Amino acid sequence: MLAAVIHAHGGPESIKAEPFPRPTAGPGEALIRVHATSLNRLDLWARSGPPVKIFPWTEPEFPLISGSDCAGEVAEIGEGVTSVAPGDRVILYPGLFCGTCEYCLAGEQTMCYSYAIFGEHTYGAMAEYAVAPANNLVKIPDRVSFTDAAALPVAYTTAWRMIGATGGIQAGDTVLVLGAGGGVSSAALQLARRAGATVYATAGTKEKRQKAVAHGAVAATDHNDQPFSQWVMEQTVGRGVDIVVDPLGATWQESIRGLARGGALVVCGATAGNKPSFDIRELYQRHRRIYGAPMGNRDDFRRVVGLLSAGEIEPIIDSVFPLTEIADAHRRAESREAFGKVVVTCA
Ligand SMILES: [Zn+2]
Repeated sequence: MLAAVIHAHGGPESIKAEPFPRPTAGPGEALIRVHATSLNRLDLWARSGPPVKIFPWTEPEFPLISGSDCAGEVAEIGEGVTSVAPGDRVILYPGLFCGTCEYCLAGEQTMCYSYAIFGEHTYGAMAEYAVAPANNLVKIPDRVSFTDAAALPVAYTTAWRMIGATGGIQAGDTVLVLGAGGGVSSAALQLARRAGATVYATAGTKEKRQKAVAHGAVAATDHNDQPFSQWVMEQTVGRGVDIVVDPLGATWQESIRGLARGGALVVCGATAGNKPSFDIRELYQRHRRIYGAPMGNRDDFRRVVGLLSAGEIEPIIDSVFPLTEIADAHRRAESREAFGKVVVTCA
C-alpha cells in the first residue's frame, strides 16, 4: 500500500507517499480501507518534532505514519468482531483507552490512565489502509462524504468538548474564538453558532477575519496587534463573553480579561506559547474559570458525528490534497492562510 511515511523529523519536503507493508487486523480490530484523513497539529509535530519536548523526552521510533482522523470502508475484520462488517462505511473515534479504569467507566475515555491517540501512538490513517479497534468505529450513512467525515473526529470532537460539555454553552451566550482559522477554532465557531450563541472571532490575517464573519461571527479582530480584551468589551458593551475558546496559550491574560463574570476560558492547546503570565486576581475576583479540554470523550464524538450524519453541519474544509501530494498538504496546513481543515484523500 501507499503511506505517508516519516523517517526522521524535518520540513514538509521530508514526507512523501511511498510503499509500506499493508497491516492486518488482529483480534478485536478492523482493517480500514482509508478514503480520507485530515491534518491536525499532531501530524505536523509528528513530522517536525514537537515544539516543546516534555521531560523525560524519548525520540519516537521511526518510521511513523500519522493521521488521527480516519474515514473509510471496513476491508477486513479480526477475530471476535461483530460491531462492523466488511463494506461498512465508517469513521473512527481516535482515542484509545482501557475501558475498565474509573474514568473509562464514567465515560471519560480521554482521562483514561492508559489513554493514547490513534495516529500518534499507533500507525495512523495517512495511508491506503489502517488498523484500529473495531469498537472505535461508528457507521456513517451513504450521504456523508468521506471527505467531510475525515474533517470531523479530532477538530469537531475537541471543539464540542470545549464549548458544550466543558463550557456549558447555552443559546444566547456570547463566545470568543481565538485563531478562528484553525481546525478546532473554525469548528468551535460553527458549533457555537449552531448552539445559538453570538460569536466573536480573532484571526491573524484579514482574509481569515473575513472568512470568520462569512461563517457566522458577528465581528472579528486581530489578536496580534492589540490587547483584544478591550475590543471584546467594546463589542459586548462592557460585559465580556461567557466562553473564550483559546488554542493559543500565550493569550491567556487577554482571554481572561475578555470574560464576563463567571465566564469560562477553555483551553485545548498552546500553539503560540505555553507559559502565559496573568494576574490570578483577575480570575477569582470575577468568578472566572479555566478548563482544559484535550479532545473529547466518545459521547462528544457521537454527538458531532450525529450532527454530520443528520446533515446539520457541513465541516469547514480549507483544501483537499491526494496522499501523493502530502508535502503540499503539510505546507498548506502550516501556512497562515488556511481556514478550516486540510483533508487528505487516500482512495
Ligand atoms: Zn481507562
